[in-house]
This record gives sequence, C-alpha cells and structure tokens, in this order.
Amino acid sequence: MLKKLLPVAILLVAISALSQPTAPDHFDGKTWWDYVKVLADDNMEGRETGSAGLRRAEAYIVEQLKRAGLQPAGTDGYYQSAKFKSRQIIEKDSGLALIRNGTVEPLPLGEDAFFNTRVDLAPELQAPLVFAGYGLSIPEKNYDDLSGLDLKGKVAVILSGSPADIPGPLASHYQSAAERWKALHKAGAVGVISIPNPAAMDIPWSRMSLSRVHPSMALSDPEFNETEGEKIAVTFNPAKADKLFEGSGHSFDELLNLAKDRKQLPRFPLTASIKAKAKLEKKNLTSANVIAKLPGNDPGLKNEYVVLSAHIDHIGIGEPINGDRIYNGAMDNASGSALLLDVASSLKKSPEKLKRSILFLFVTGEEKGLLGSKYFAAHPTVDPKSMVADINVDMFLPIVPLKILTVLGLAESDLGDAAREVAQAHGISVQPDPEPQRNIFIRSDQYNFIRHGIPALAMGVGAMPGSPEQKIFKDWLTQRYHAPSDDLNQPVDLPAAALYEEVIRGLMVSVAQNPHRPQWKQDSFFRRYSQAAGE
Ligand SMILES: [Zn+2]
Repeated sequence: MLKKLLPVAILLVAISALSQPTAPDHFDGKTWWDYVKVLADDNMEGRETGSAGLRRAEAYIVEQLKRAGLQPAGTDGYYQSAKFKSRQIIEKDSGLALIRNGTVEPLPLGEDAFFNTRVDLAPELQAPLVFAGYGLSIPEKNYDDLSGLDLKGKVAVILSGSPADIPGPLASHYQSAAERWKALHKAGAVGVISIPNPAAMDIPWSRMSLSRVHPSMALSDPEFNETEGEKIAVTFNPAKADKLFEGSGHSFDELLNLAKDRKQLPRFPLTASIKAKAKLEKKNLTSANVIAKLPGNDPGLKNEYVVLSAHIDHIGIGEPINGDRIYNGAMDNASGSALLLDVASSLKKSPEKLKRSILFLFVTGEEKGLLGSKYFAAHPTVDPKSMVADINVDMFLPIVPLKILTVLGLAESDLGDAAREVAQAHGISVQPDPEPQRNIFIRSDQYNFIRHGIPALAMGVGAMPGSPEQKIFKDWLTQRYHAPSDDLNQPVDLPAAALYEEVIRGLMVSVAQNPHRPQWKQDSFFRRYSQAAGE
C-alpha cells in the first residue's frame, strides 16, 4: 500500500513546502473547546442514543441555537424524533459452536467470537460454512467473490477488506452491511461470519469484544430493514480463525498473506458447520435529531440548503477500562457538534449575507449504524431536492498541527474541488483517503446523503503516510477511539481546530454563494443516486 501512495506523498511534500498554514480569521479554538467541554462532560453520560444524557446534551444544543438566533427546522421545534428498537444479547442463554465430523467444539463468546446484534438473530440455527473471500459482488468491476459458490442455506465466512484494483469509495460502498447482505442473500446465504483483518483493525480485539453485550439499535420502521433474512451475524477473532479453516486445505495465514497485498482470495467450502443459540432482549425507544436553519438572502437561492451535519450521540456508559465507565466521546463526536455550534454563531454574527440557507443538523444514532441521518435522509424536514450538499464533521481529530486535510469523497463531486481551493487558500494541502481499507467513507453520516443523490464529503486533520503524525493518529485509535479515554483529559491542538473550522466555514460560504449547485463528477460511481433521485 505504501508503495502505491509514494508518488502522491512526494507531490504533497512539494505543495506543503511552498506554503504555510495561515492564521484563522474567525476562530481561536477556545470557544470550540468550551462547547466540547460541556458536551463531553461526565454529566452527559456518554450521550447514548435514547438516553437521558443525550437528551441533556441536545437540550444544551437547542439553547445555544436559540441564543445564536437560528430558526427551528425540525418537526417539533428543533427536534425530529424517530423510533428505535434495541437488541441486547443475553450471553448466559446464548452460545456458539463449530460442528465437525459430529464433534461439537464450543466457541467461547468474547474469546473466539461474538454475535452482531444489529441483525435480528434467529433464536437457533445450524448451517454449513463456506469461505467466500472478501464476500463482495461488484458488478461495475465484473468482480464477484460469490460466483460458482454454493451458498444456499449456508453461512458465508468472509475476511474484511477488498482487492486492490477496486477503487476505495466503490469498495467501501459494497462493504456496507446493506450491500453486502443484498448479494449474499441473493446467493441464498443465511448469515455471515466476518473475520476482521488484524492489519486494518482500529480497535484491538480485547476492546472490540468488551462492547459486545452493549445494546445495538435499529430504526423501528420496516422500511429501514436492510438485513431481512439474515439469521446469524458473527464477528470472529482473527487470532482464533484457524479453527474455521481446519481440514479445508487452506490456512488463515495464507489468506492473510494474500489480503496483505489486497490480492484476490480463494473461495472454498469449510469442513465445519456453525451451531448458534442467541437470546436477545429487545426494547423500544425514541431519540431525536436536532435541526436548525440560518435563512439565506437571495430571493431564489434561499430556498436551497447547504447541510452541515455532525452526530451528537456516542456510546454511553459501558464496560469500565482503567476504572472509567463513561465513554465521553470528546473527539467522537462532541468535537463535530461543537464545531457546528461555533460555525453557526460565527455565520450569524457575520455581516456578509449568504445567498443559500444553511441547515445545521445534529444527528442521533450514528454509532448504532448511521441511523439518525438515515432517518433524516429518508424523511427530510425540508424539500429533499432543495439540499444541494452535505458537509459532515465527525471526529476530525485536531491532535496534530493542521498542514494536510484528508478529504473523503475528494474526487467524487466538485465539492472536493471547492474544499481543495479553500484549504489551499489557507496554506493547507489535501489528500484523498490514504487508508481506503478502513472504509471511513461509509462510516459516517455523509453516506446517507450520498445514497440520496446529494453531493457530500467529510474531512479530517490528516497526516502524510509514514510520518510521525500518522503514528500519533494510529496510537489514538488504538488507545482512545471508542474508549473512556476519549475524554476531556487528552492533548488537543487548539490552533489546528481553529484552522479546521476556518476551512469548514469557508467551504460553507463558498457553496452557499456559488450560483451553481455542486455536481457529482461524470465518472463518480455515486452519481447514479442523483439520477435515481430524478435530478
Ligand atoms: Zn464513533
């Protein structure tokens, strides 16, 4: 991977040597951090979807929006509430085992594997296993891991990742739970066992496994069910994956070696069947998005909206790590919600009048599978055709100086060009996602706008591949991402945050003032959704 990126890296060194980041005009980082301090306070209890803590955080946001003079744009004042159901695995009444030649080999939950409760698991199931490579079916590239495999009534075992010749955004899209299941379901499979590739894991197994008994959630309305017919979903510990391949003529190491270079994987039946018993506790709950608008001034364009979105929810109170149970989510994503508040009050104060209106959208349920934005995109509180773009801010990580921005969706629409222009005017270079295998393009709320045809992007403070900053990011993910230590006691670079805010603000203004609305690139895969939306 590094070899492929080298020419880009050299180019970026050349660009950044020419310019130095400028000082921000509108932000100092301090007002932003003051908002973060409130939203990530222990009192907000980690802002779990449906919790009292999240409602407190949202009430605070509404108060700030009122104070900034923004208008309500929800269905009930600033709020747009949605119904959810939660599912929690009761492990003492559940179990997993491999059955091979009549012998039952139990798989201890948490050690070897755990259930993924985003799927409405069948109470009991026994089915043969088939290794389906990356489990991807990508018609645009004539690529199909499922072709020639007999998956009828079987469970597909897959290794996370994608082959190198599939472009990042396309590979990410087809790895979304919905797209992947669509293909597997069509092939007759009844479930999926995913093995994360240890080389691309943000969170070590021990921590992943720790959160397995935390409730997962889904939107209640059946229109949102994307895993119909999926009876079992399991995540398997890569360190124990050899068990799955015993007697198959292949070893897990061999597969990892191929996956390392993102080569195509062999596909073959496994010798074992999986036997599963899953007891779920289900509950109903509601949670809301918070939506405000800053009306534009142009008689025609004021009926169009530039959306600035950030998720306000996080993962609540969970298993303690170093004695701390509150998962504060300071960077993920009090940081983005705080940015929206800061930009809102800055734009409101500005003498410069915007032509288009701005919609500030604080979504719930992101950590549960981008659910609040999914609901909003399907049931927007403004005319769906009036939303010209979404700029999403999620965990932008101002923990190193801002010299380079990683822009997700950089090459997909001319929003990417606008972002590049604004960044360069501030002496900041831009790069596309240097780690497409992490799938971050589909891992935040911009994706639901994309699925509805609306050009969207997200960006974060970046690092050059192989640089000391990249190591800082990597360590942050390993230690703090989705851990209680993503709290207010961590190093933050306030000038980097201020400069990042400046870029977001500049991009908002540029899109709001441009007489032309942003367009998908002719060759973007995601352009199809705008055509489907009848644009
Ligand atoms: Zn998160």
